[in-house]
Amino acid sequence: MSLPNPVITIDGPAASGKSSIARLVAQRLGYTYVNTGNMYRAVTWAVLQAGVDPHDADAVRTAAAANVVESPVVDGRTQVCVGGHALSDVELNSDPVNRAVSLVARVPEVRERLVADQRALGAIGPLVMEGRDIGSVVFPGSPHKIYVDASEEVRASRRSAQGHADQVAERDRIDKQRKASPLVIPEGATVIDNSHITLDQAVDQVIAALKLA
Ligand code: C5P
Repeated sequence: MSLPNPVITIDGPAASGKSSIARLVAQRLGYTYVNTGNMYRAVTWAVLQAGVDPHDADAVRTAAAANVVESPVVDGRTQVCVGGHALSDVELNSDPVNRAVSLVARVPEVRERLVADQRALGAIGPLVMEGRDIGSVVFPGSPHKIYVDASEEVRASRRSAQGHADQVAERDRIDKQRKASPLVIPEGATVIDNSHITLDQAVDQVIAALKLA
């Protein structure tokens, strides 16, 4: 299936630095930036607002289906809205959402719905889309795939600087082991080791690896 617009897919584990890289690559190229983690966080926020235990997959499925989650583009990047309410960074990155998001994201029906929304965004124009399964599942036909990684030591120190060491390690474990589209290096992806380079160097490496017309 050929894509109407180029999509640069950027996947990788938590604390690899992929969000900062993806945002800057999008800015440099003038592409729309899509953070798919925020879409999973928005569903998680709605599930928690409904008082649902995130370990209960049936209840998560029902609560997620009862909420309209939208991703309008504002200033070159997608926002996330639940029932018309635009979620703030504080709401999206709260401790309860951090703890629950990988449990919600492993429910196949939640993924199916968000993957459909992510594919639909491909029609609006050129994108940089980052997440865990963008090159492997959402846009496997894209020729522009990047996987950002970093050494365990560097990721651990970034995790502790963020103050969420255990939550992030646990999220990585669930994301890699889940049955529905686990985190993998997508076929054909260029792997960038972001352990010991600056943000600018990482962005340069990504742009050099892309074969954009
Ligand atoms: O990117 P971020 O760390 O904000 O993502 C939060 C969580 O959302 C991840 O740990 C993962 O469980 C889930 N996620 C996913 N697939 C994506 C993006 C995020 O499962 N494409």
